[in-house]
Amino acid sequence: MTRLIDTDRVFARPDTSATQGRIVWDAAKSLWLLAHMAGGAAALIWFPSWGGFAAFLLLAAMTLCAGHSVGMHRLLIHRAFTAPKGLERGLVWLGTLVGMAGPFGMIRAHDMRDWHQRQAICPPHPSHGAGPLRDAWWQMHCAFRLDYPPRFEIEPEIANDPWYRWMERHWMAQQLIPAAILFALGGIGWILWGISLRIAVSLIGHWAVGHAAHKGGHQGWEIQGLPVQGYNLRGLGLLTFGESFHGNHHAFPHSARLGVERGQMDPGFWLIRTLEAMGLAWGVKGPSSEPHREGLKRVTEQSPIAQQEMIYAGE
Ligand SMILES: [Zn+2]
Ligand SMILES: [Zn+2]
Repeated sequence: MTRLIDTDRVFARPDTSATQGRIVWDAAKSLWLLAHMAGGAAALIWFPSWGGFAAFLLLAAMTLCAGHSVGMHRLLIHRAFTAPKGLERGLVWLGTLVGMAGPFGMIRAHDMRDWHQRQAICPPHPSHGAGPLRDAWWQMHCAFRLDYPPRFEIEPEIANDPWYRWMERHWMAQQLIPAAILFALGGIGWILWGISLRIAVSLIGHWAVGHAAHKGGHQGWEIQGLPVQGYNLRGLGLLTFGESFHGNHHAFPHSARLGVERGQMDPGFWLIRTLEAMGLAWGVKGPSSEPHREGLKRVTEQSPIAQQEMIYAGE
């Protein structure tokens, strides 16, 4: 058996196997999505309104950009920058409102996938190895349960935070807070737009980007020796708030900036720069802030401007 590579929060035990396990239906995850898909369809059919649409757009942008991409992914999971504790909690709360999982569930899903993708052999569930229909079923309705899982440990600073514990315990019920505001402003129709349709679109969109970004696309760097590569999806920077540059993320997982090359629009990073200018973010990491990953190799020629930008991002 080949040696298993540990990551920051995932540690192989002597009997750990990264491949031996089963894909099982995850009832809560599956029914949660189906219910919101039904609610979203009801919004479109019975409650069409510009107000509802505006609530959908505004909440989607806040929860996906400030919450999921900046708060949950770049700050909580990767520690790509530092922010005051209250702001960090607020951003992570917005990330919880995406409706995917609580903070601990998100860290676990992200880090287990990352751990799997760094091993010599990665099973088809965490590698997005299946075709689109099967992968959609696996990722959005099922869970991959290892027979001999590694030890997974979240650092005490996060694991013992009372606010994060509260968000984790009641991550589905957190929707009641924006739902109450939406109800007051626009009634049941706005709840269906701003909660159900938004959650359905966010979860399906998140899966689609994750699936496509492991299948192919532009690649600035590759990690030699690994079976799973990440790719940049051109043209989706604005829509995904920078998360579509997944090839860059595989290359520089610690970097707060995902769109590291010229022309790669990264609204999540613009938000971090804005926070930094206001004195609300510091220690912002760029691609060169930490030693390069083992096996990292440039695929396409780097323009002098891209180099400049990378140096700037690393300051
Ligand atoms: Zn990946
Ligand atoms: Zn990541």
